[in-house]
Amino acid sequence: MIPIFDTHAHLDLEPFSPDRGAVIRRIESGTLPIIPDGLISQQPIEMTGVLLPGIDAVSSCRCAELAKQSPIFHAAAAIHPNYVVNATDDDWKTITALAHSDAVSAIGETGLDQYWDYTPLEQQIDALRQHIDLAVQTSKPIQIHCRDAWNEMLPILRQAVKEKGLTGIIHAFSGEPEQAAECVELGFYLSFAGSVTYRNTKFSPLWESAKIVPADRLLIETDSPYMTPHPFRGKLKRNEPTMAVMVALRLAELRETTLESIAKTTTQNARQLLGISKNTFSQIQI
Ligand SMILES: [Zn+2]
Repeated sequence: MIPIFDTHAHLDLEPFSPDRGAVIRRIESGTLPIIPDGLISQQPIEMTGVLLPGIDAVSSCRCAELAKQSPIFHAAAAIHPNYVVNATDDDWKTITALAHSDAVSAIGETGLDQYWDYTPLEQQIDALRQHIDLAVQTSKPIQIHCRDAWNEMLPILRQAVKEKGLTGIIHAFSGEPEQAAECVELGFYLSFAGSVTYRNTKFSPLWESAKIVPADRLLIETDSPYMTPHPFRGKLKRNEPTMAVMVALRLAELRETTLESIAKTTTQNARQLLGISKNTFSQIQI
């Protein structure tokens, strides 16, 4: 069995509405939505976990509900930087209540996004600091989204780690090796997504980042329904959690190790960070 823990999947979102049940059954059976041609060995996949991050109050509640459907589902609650502009006081109360409840295992996704221009940066930074405080108060890991905002992000994280003991995941890591090294030094886990599988050389700094992250800080994710990995980008209508095996395969290639090794390590790391006891998965031998 190849154990696969997808640390970022938006199963609550609309693209999954028509056939969410079918997607969940594929997660439970470790079935890919498309069979890769000779890329994956005959070893079956066993999904060991899927972390479902919220993007606003409604989405976070849906993730918490979904997490009740399977012992391998875990929810996170937050308001995504792009949607902070729409958040009401009641939305923040919902996020705070969820964060303090057993319904969620992490605070996310939060962060900074300067690619899209939905929420003014100052407002994004304010919201990020509120999420950091929630993560620290609840002793739960934070899940960080950082798009075109490393210069603003790193000082905030540095301060929060130093003064408050923040820990967590940099989701869909997109940075260069220098930024990867800094995130590692701050104690974060780096989660790689479909982008690391893309063959365009503009992604080569990201390939280099994937090589230098210590094994005990490595995670994989799909960011479903987005970021479908190579070679299925443009061929699948959307990405889904079992496809995280393609990211593991690419990390194995870049790091000159085996798929099994990446799969086991990333599952162990995700469990460790989220405080998931192995006993919950006693049926899985890894
Ligand atoms: Zn996301």
